[in-house]
Amino acid sequence: MREDCIFCKIVTGTIPSAHLAETDFAIAIRDLHPQAKQHFLVIPKIHATHLDELSQQTRGEELLGQLVGFAAALARKQGLMPEGYRLVANTNPYGGQSVYHLHFHVLGGEPLAGQFGAG
Ligand code: AMP
Repeated sequence: MREDCIFCKIVTGTIPSAHLAETDFAIAIRDLHPQAKQHFLVIPKIHATHLDELSQQTRGEELLGQLVGFAAALARKQGLMPEGYRLVANTNPYGGQSVYHLHFHVLGGEPLAGQFGAG
């Protein structure tokens, strides 16, 4: 837990937020500035700066598998299948990361414009 981390504060409830779902290892919340009709974030309860950091931790890959599974199950529950959705983990400046606590974006609910590449 980091005192200066906004997502740690959301996880602990210091900043109140409506949780879409919660497990023992993660929460899901709606993004404050949705980029699609449906846009939510899957946030691990432990603080990891980004995907690269967690992937190097002991049992990090196990948690990453759980987070992706949680995101997929929630996307289905939210009605995003069978049409589909996008799962994104922006990492560091070149990846466009702005909050330095690992999170997965789940975007869907409409056809998503744009492809990958430099913006
Ligand atoms: P990223 O740019 O990948 O780090 O994404 C950070 C995301 O967190 C952005 O899409 C923000 O809109 C979102 N965000 C920041 N603060 C909050 C908050 N308090 N509640 C919900 N979403 C937030």
